[in-house]
Amino acid sequence: MIKIRNIHKAFGDNEILRGIDLDIKKGQVIVILGPSGSGKTTFLRCLNALEIPEQGSIAFENERPLQVDFAAKSVKKDILALRRKSGMVFQQYNLFPHKTALENVMEGPVYVQHKSPQRAREEALNLLGKVGLADKVDLYPFQLSGGQQQRVGIARALALQPELMLFDEPTSALDPELVQDVLDSMKELALEGMTMVVVTHEIKFALDVADLVVVMDQGVIVEQGSPQQLFDNPRHERTKAFLQRLR
Ligand code: ATP
Repeated sequence: MIKIRNIHKAFGDNEILRGIDLDIKKGQVIVILGPSGSGKTTFLRCLNALEIPEQGSIAFENERPLQVDFAAKSVKKDILALRRKSGMVFQQYNLFPHKTALENVMEGPVYVQHKSPQRAREEALNLLGKVGLADKVDLYPFQLSGGQQQRVGIARALALQPELMLFDEPTSALDPELVQDVLDSMKELALEGMTMVVVTHEIKFALDVADLVVVMDQGVIVEQGSPQQLFDNPRHERTKAFLQRLR
């Protein structure tokens, strides 16, 4: 279980997250929905300390426990530990352009985890196979479609063996015909039991795959529940208004 409590994040005077609480169970897939500017990306970035909240805490209560209290003076070393817990997949794939798909996936294990290149290579080939790119491993990003690049991005994040995978609108930069392959790779990962938090506007993915849907608005969670509960019977006015616009 990952317990997130009272996360506050401001940029200057602009208070973006105003007290977010969330429990993430092992193996759970959580989809975050909400209007543009509601703080979804900022929240995801706080989960792996790409943004540092001013207040709040994140606790991993599992085999390798970690408690990060952002208001504490000693938070710096915990932040590095927190970053290692999760893998992030971005809207823009952020691959190294001068490295092949295989080299992109090997980079973290070799340079961050100091694995032997041979072992890193075997694991990277395995991961690229899993995301359906076994025949593309020696191609450079510019030789790959957006969807293929994004699947390299997923394999690259997985190569660091994260406990939690974070996806920030992973399909929103893709042409419509490329979206499904990426969603299929994510679904497969979910079926294997990976714990995932996904910011997306893909409602069908939320319905099919999510265990919990969380709706954010103006820096708070306004409602959460199972996809059926939330889509069929939204309770909060702001959830109703948001879902209406998606239909
Ligand atoms: P979208 O669906 O459009 O991606 P979102 O819900 O993910 O929106 P965020 O990207 O978290 O929203 O942005 C929330 C607010 O925080 C926005 O008003 C944005 O301008 C502001 N913001 C985000 N990052 C920064 C930053 N680094 N500096 C200043 N303001 C920022």
